[in-house]
Amino acid sequence: MTHPSRPAIAIGALGGTIASTSSADDGSAVVPTMDAATLAAAVPGLTEVADLRAETLERLPSPSLDEPTVVRALQWARRAVDDGAAGVVLTQGTDTLEESAYLLDLLWDRPEPLVVTGAMRSPQAPGADGPANLLSAVRCASAAASRGRGVLVVVDDEVHLARWVAKTDSVSTGAFRSPAFGPIGRCVEGEVAFAAPAARPAPLRLTAAEEQGDPRVPLVATYLGDDGHVLAALDPERLDGVVVAGFGAGHVSERAAEQIPRLAQRVPVVFASRTGAGPTGRAIYGYPGSEVDLVARGAVGAGWLPPVKARLLLWALALRGPVPREVAAHEFEERGRL
Ligand code: ASP
Repeated sequence: MTHPSRPAIAIGALGGTIASTSSADDGSAVVPTMDAATLAAAVPGLTEVADLRAETLERLPSPSLDEPTVVRALQWARRAVDDGAAGVVLTQGTDTLEESAYLLDLLWDRPEPLVVTGAMRSPQAPGADGPANLLSAVRCASAAASRGRGVLVVVDDEVHLARWVAKTDSVSTGAFRSPAFGPIGRCVEGEVAFAAPAARPAPLRLTAAEEQGDPRVPLVATYLGDDGHVLAALDPERLDGVVVAGFGAGHVSERAAEQIPRLAQRVPVVFASRTGAGPTGRAIYGYPGSEVDLVARGAVGAGWLPPVKARLLLWALALRGPVPREVAAHEFEERGRL
């Protein structure tokens, strides 16, 4: 039954550890099985916070999510808001949460909060973190102060902007951090406190037909001794863009750099930093394979966006068709900075 003083919040469940159970008593080897209603019902006090509508969208481990599945979740979230939800929460696996949250953020065109959460421990594990994360996510999605901020990630009572959050540990419950400047908010005593006023880059405006696309944008990581043979194996005729995860401020070896012009003549090539924090350089180094050299060979720096998010920005831009280098450069300049 709806309650006049409680906000209507839609919860969409995609799977992940937060929804994973085991048939063994020790809770080992879990797989995503739980539906959204069961997830919500397991959280003490949740129904006091909001009028909930819970829907199971997928039951996937998050490594098997893909961009079209995330876009379908986005469209479901839009419909939930159109039907009167004051905010939306998506639950999913943590492995790819930083990516799907950013893709959602690029396309979320509503002031209502869209909050993504998950869990590092499954529901049967001692100290399971899913219920607390879901409760905080619903509170965050209900808060007036969360409006106009795009997509937020709530884990461990911290609120992160989707564009900067990263999973930085494979098992810790404190795995989520925003390496550039930290979280944007905290959840304390049932309230959400933000460190800064709402501000975000404008979402990408796409047609319904464009949102159906699935461009091909691979991510190639460099490494000590990289002779460029992986880049050489790429056929630009079959791609819509390439992202290179470079050393330091976005560097590759001279031999890898030699492969860039062949690709950049056909598709946008973006270089990002594989370090996990900090931006790509603009004019620090000038040697072959440096940021200055890569730009001269036709590539574009990702700025503060890490490789996986740079890849999603290029993927989303390519939904509109071939991306001219100047357009890629402009978008990464605008969206790849703080
Ligand atoms: N492997 C799980 C997943 O991403 C991890 C998690 O949810 O925490 O689906």
